[in-house]
Amino acid sequence: MKTTLLAISIVILHAAASAQCLVYEVPLSARVQQAEAVFEGKVIAKKSFWNKQHTYIYTANTVEVYKIFKGNFTATQAEIITPGGVVGNKAIVAEPALKLSNGETGMFFATADNTNLPLTGTVMKPFAGPQGFIQYNVAQNSAADVFATYQGITSNLYKKITALTKSNYQVVRPYDVDLATQESDRSAPVITNLNPLSVSAGTRAAITISGSGFGATQGSGRVAFKNSDNGGGSVVNVTDPKYYISWSDNTIQVIVPGDVMANSIGTGTVSVTNSSAQSGTSSQTLTITFNRYEIALNSTLEQTFFYNDNASGGYTFAPHTEVAAIPAATAAIQRAMDTWTCASNVNWILSPTSTTTDVAASDGVNVIRFDNGSELGAGVLGMGSTYWSYCFGTMENYWKVTEMDITLDDGTNWNYGPSSPGGAQYDFESVMLHELGHLHQFNHVINTSSTMHYAIANGAMRRTLLSSDITGANVVMSASATDASDAGVSAMVPYTNNPSCIPTSVDNISSHIDQPVYPNPATDFIRVKFSSNSKIEVFNLIGESFDVTIAGDNLIDISTLSRGIYVLKISDAFTSRAYRFSVAR
Ligand SMILES: [Zn+2]
Repeated sequence: MKTTLLAISIVILHAAASAQCLVYEVPLSARVQQAEAVFEGKVIAKKSFWNKQHTYIYTANTVEVYKIFKGNFTATQAEIITPGGVVGNKAIVAEPALKLSNGETGMFFATADNTNLPLTGTVMKPFAGPQGFIQYNVAQNSAADVFATYQGITSNLYKKITALTKSNYQVVRPYDVDLATQESDRSAPVITNLNPLSVSAGTRAAITISGSGFGATQGSGRVAFKNSDNGGGSVVNVTDPKYYISWSDNTIQVIVPGDVMANSIGTGTVSVTNSSAQSGTSSQTLTITFNRYEIALNSTLEQTFFYNDNASGGYTFAPHTEVAAIPAATAAIQRAMDTWTCASNVNWILSPTSTTTDVAASDGVNVIRFDNGSELGAGVLGMGSTYWSYCFGTMENYWKVTEMDITLDDGTNWNYGPSSPGGAQYDFESVMLHELGHLHQFNHVINTSSTMHYAIANGAMRRTLLSSDITGANVVMSASATDASDAGVSAMVPYTNNPSCIPTSVDNISSHIDQPVYPNPATDFIRVKFSSNSKIEVFNLIGESFDVTIAGDNLIDISTLSRGIYVLKISDAFTSRAYRFSVAR
């Protein structure tokens, strides 16, 4: 096995008033007032660099400037610096940072850049992270950012911004939005069918799009899916040829992307644009069940996998001393971690020992910490990082997860629980579950019941997993075993005997059922297989425990339980199983 060390850092920033997991809304008015520059432009090139300290990779997105709405600069192009990118055999991925792709046009909100890159010219960074860009959908004459959609680019968005700047814009290069929207509004492609209608993303599964007017060849044509990073407010154009299996005038086969470097895709309509820039949208909805990270940097689509990082079978996370000083926070982290480990047996351990490491960096420490000062910037509640290193396998090449860090905003009004959050609070356990979901190698989905939905309202709780989340987690786990083996890397040992695995929802419980309890519903006794040295425990669905007695071989007396739904947990030295049963009387 050859292993090349590539540090990849996924920065996960998100929150809620209609807040995104760890990004809260910075209104258009605040962005216009606080950003140093507001301008319209198109991304025409991307190049990545190490910063001068060689601690982080950033991407310079070259933007051709069309109109300046605010700012004292006259450049015809600007460099917008976003965290993450690839330099040689090293890469960093940031989430959710602003993710820009070549050809994207829209309104930029930028501020002075302090990333210390070897660049000259007009160098800026997005203001308010992923909210620093409003992407145009010229075909629909609309524009969208993380929280809002603007119908009418010149008639609405321009007017809103000039009303705030109280001045007209300055034209740098000719670009007529109204003309562009008219030209694209000719809708030749017609989509008659999508097959299948439900699929996972990032697993190399493909869909077949049937219809007409797609064009005999792809040319500059493309398929677009709904953008799950803003709940479907905009679309993600799939431009990478690796995702296309076939293209003809009436049939397109496209792999459903999980590209972690681009905006992620989610449930909704699918559209096709042909090389004459005419587009059509499906009437059917494609359901994206879960969206697994994949890396599309190289010539093939590559998977990420877990391995045995701590020599005890998995990964050990350490709370920083400031986190460890809040027992309720530590307990919430442990509960969120248990929810994932109980669902997929991912081998994650929360160390009882805190660390003084107070930085998210590729340093071998998986730290969970609060930020310092305004480290996380406007609108950002938290940030998570996953670091990967590149591995060569015999079948294909992979990215193994070598480190994970989470940074949370120390100024947020958190509810650590276990009680419910107040209306103004953010639920710490729900946010941790979401961030840990990113660390479990998932992009966002569009499903308000899923922990991987991009947004959670404050006052809301989302502390459990859906069966689709659990299915995805188990896909990552089984692929991790296969990939580690192929790459000759010590595989993760599934954490099957976590003593805290008390299922807390029907979805969790169903994944544990491998043998029925009989009868169910029951009145006085239940039969279930267990060995004589097993530990038998019964809980209700909020985790309160009840005494029961073993009445004989594979027989438990439950006559003291009142009517309701319970979880029976049977553990021995090696395994732990749980079953749901109900008592009817
Ligand atoms: Zn997220």
